Amino acid sequence: TGVLYVVATPIGNLGDLSPRARQVLAEVAAIAAEDTRDTRRLLAQYGITSELIAYHDHNEATMTPQILERLVAGQSLALVSDAGTPLISDPGYTLVAAARAQGLPVVPIPGASAAICALSASGLPSDRFLFLGFPPRTSVRRRTWLAAVASEPGTLILYESAKRVLETLHDLSVVLGETRRLVIARELTKQFETFLLGTASELIARLESDPEQRLGEMVLLVEGCSASESDAAHAESIRVLRLLCEAMP
Ligand code: SAM
Repeated sequence: TGVLYVVATPIGNLGDLSPRARQVLAEVAAIAAEDTRDTRRLLAQYGITSELIAYHDHNEATMTPQILERLVAGQSLALVSDAGTPLISDPGYTLVAAARAQGLPVVPIPGASAAICALSASGLPSDRFLFLGFPPRTSVRRRTWLAAVASEPGTLILYESAKRVLETLHDLSVVLGETRRLVIARELTKQFETFLLGTASELIARLESDPEQRLGEMVLLVEGCSASESDAAHAESIRVLRLLCEAMP
């Protein structure tokens, strides 16, 4: 049988496509890509002309069996997304899970992922972290979603679009308070790469006064819940429980 290669592509800087990734992409029978036009443009930079097939959120159910068939027939294929590592807030899970379930070989070709790239240079604790992907788009759902991770001690990593970053910072400030350090990692590996550090309100003020800081792609990192914060939350729930007990007949 063939091999399914899960290949990371650059998140900005074209120099970040590894020689191994280039070789695999040039040698496979076909590349399953989220957006074939984007990928064609990327591959053209390296002179790679392999066959491209569309594989995205809307056709994965029909494409998965077709790709598996080709693997079973002995062809090796690569899976890429528009940027970074496939499956990380990108399509591919259905295909990789199905290939594994059939006992087909799946080989990762590692490279950039915005989440890890941001964490590695943020200055926030990196020994433990929780990747959350994109927050819900409405404020009500976003606040519930943030409340569910309020006591997580590891650094929180979120993807957010420039369009919604101010709203999300606002919800972060409401739900997690003003004591935590945040980092916005913007335009990673690109010309205007920037790291902004501060509390939620400091970052809101910064983004409001400097609209340039609201452009492009960004990762939000939030310091985890500290021991003193979780002790305080624990003490508060005990206080409330006591009050409830006293009020009961
Ligand atoms: N699979 C990708 C990865 O491994 O990083 C992530 C894909 S997700 C659809 C796109 C989001 O990743 C963007 O909205 C942004 O939050 C983040 N992102 C991607 N490239 C970035 C960059 N160069 N700088 C900052 N954030 C980036």
